[in-house]
Amino acid sequence: MGLLRLLAIIALAFVGVQLFRRILRIGPSRKNPLEKARTIKGADMVKDPVCGVYTPRDSALSAHQGDQIRYFCSEKCRDAFTREAPVKN
Ligand SMILES: [Zn+2]
Repeated sequence: MGLLRLLAIIALAFVGVQLFRRILRIGPSRKNPLEKARTIKGADMVKDPVCGVYTPRDSALSAHQGDQIRYFCSEKCRDAFTREAPVKN
């Protein structure tokens, strides 16, 4: 009887640890979407010089022009820009 009770306690402790780990894993992942939303709302928007659309820097395509970095909403815009002014990648 004593051994069964000990096994039950070990099993419960294992389940408890798993649940605790799951809660810890949920914690940081819940923070990330909020941080991303903040950067999209904030100043991290870049203007596409070709079509004038504002795109979040994270998802924008970039090309170097001299020591400046240009950001584009799509490959189409980047190609149009690089055709007009040669760009180093
Ligand atoms: Zn564009």
